[in-house]
Amino acid sequence: APRPHQPRVLLLCSPCLGHLIPFAELARRLVADHGLAATLLFASATSPPSEQYLAVAASVLAEGVDLVALPAPAPADALPGDASVRERAAHAVARSVPRVRDVARSLAATAPLAALVVDMIGAPARAVAEELGVPFYMFFTSPWMLLSLFLHLPSLDADAARAGGEHRDATEPIRLPGCVPIHAHDLPSSMLADRSSATYAGLLAMARDAARADGVLVNTFRELEPAIGDGADGVKLPPVHAVGPLIWTRPVAMDRDHECLSWLNQQPRGSVVYVSFGSGGTLTWQQTAELALGLELSQHRFIWAIKRPDQDTSSGAFFGTANSRGEEEGMDFLPEGFIERTRGVGLLVPSWAPQTSILGHASIGCFLTHCGWNSTLESVFNGVPMIAWPLYAEQKMNAAMMEVQAKVAIRINVGNERFITNEEIANTIKRVMKGEEAEMLKMRIGELKDKAVYALSKGCSILAQVTHVWKSTVG
Ligand code: UDP
Repeated sequence: APRPHQPRVLLLCSPCLGHLIPFAELARRLVADHGLAATLLFASATSPPSEQYLAVAASVLAEGVDLVALPAPAPADALPGDASVRERAAHAVARSVPRVRDVARSLAATAPLAALVVDMIGAPARAVAEELGVPFYMFFTSPWMLLSLFLHLPSLDADAARAGGEHRDATEPIRLPGCVPIHAHDLPSSMLADRSSATYAGLLAMARDAARADGVLVNTFRELEPAIGDGADGVKLPPVHAVGPLIWTRPVAMDRDHECLSWLNQQPRGSVVYVSFGSGGTLTWQQTAELALGLELSQHRFIWAIKRPDQDTSSGAFFGTANSRGEEEGMDFLPEGFIERTRGVGLLVPSWAPQTSILGHASIGCFLTHCGWNSTLESVFNGVPMIAWPLYAEQKMNAAMMEVQAKVAIRINVGNERFITNEEIANTIKRVMKGEEAEMLKMRIGELKDKAVYALSKGCSILAQVTHVWKSTVG
């Protein structure tokens, strides 16, 4: 229990599991390692919240972090069905500000508030921090490279305006200090939108908000992104702090004793390919079937966190609509006989897989991933080489960084018509699992893992420096 008058950090996380997980770890560390109390305000994208949300929330609570669940916007206030994931999340956060204010005021009445920490769409809560005279920080749950792109966006936008074009048509890659060049086809989806669109305007506003924060915490570490904090001439950057890699590794009730962990215990060391596209990623029907054939053709063991296909979007599972809860009979989208032919060699995990436990298991040899940033950090932290199969958001940039800069992944070759054949899948798996190239990948990711562990060790914790400043401002 917090001591009386113990300074408290208030954290506000938008309704997205990929944000909640690093926010949970940030809050846990504030409490466990830095002598602060923490209250995490969070909302779920679905109402009622999904099982995963509740499970993560329960394990956060068990670590001594106080939780406040924010209600989802009322149905009458909901955005139209074609709104993007980011627009919906931003809408929910904007609507929650009055509640955040109430909570902040009542907590401030009993103990000093050391900081308000929000994610990149939490800017509307800035007013609350200003009213209460509390430092306003953002926690960026993607890499520095993406934050750098956003912080440079007003200047890149001016360049594009002068050239009279759209970012998606640029023939020259964007070169940010110390980052791999970003080609137009690797840009995050939001930057591909017309510069005159509302989506793009929202992105620009977010970039300007971030530049005004008292500080931005980034879930990365300097040995992975050496240029963190470097800006081009004339670009105003807020103070940036690499506090990562923050990964949720505490027990989550639904993960413990998961059958796939006992299955992994029976497999040889380094022999299993783990396949997952994150909490939201989906493939089309054809691509899902092709992936199945590719896994089979590779003749390697695998665990596949499988989702029901979606023809319309590559993030079809985000709102729980495409999530398969079915057992094997619900797997009608797999090639005929696939389940029988791969029995014993492959394991299908519908809905939710205990990912950090899987990646930490000695039987895992590589991770076929969509390169969501949490998944990427989890793979690095466990020393597991990656096959990068990016889908949306900034995942293509992450994939480029992991292959070109960190050299711990191989990008799968997206053929013509953006379809990946079973031969390509099988060959890439073979390259990453066995042979000279595989040994190099394993060696490099082993080194990077050691550096990740070191970045979090007591002596060099950046979070310790940040919290020291927070504590000294509240006296
Ligand atoms: N995750 C999990 N089991 C699953 C799918 C996802 O534990 O079946 C976790 C994963 O470990 C990671 C997070 O959910 O911490 C997904 O975040 P990421 O940034 O990789 O991708 P997103 O889901 O945001 O696209």
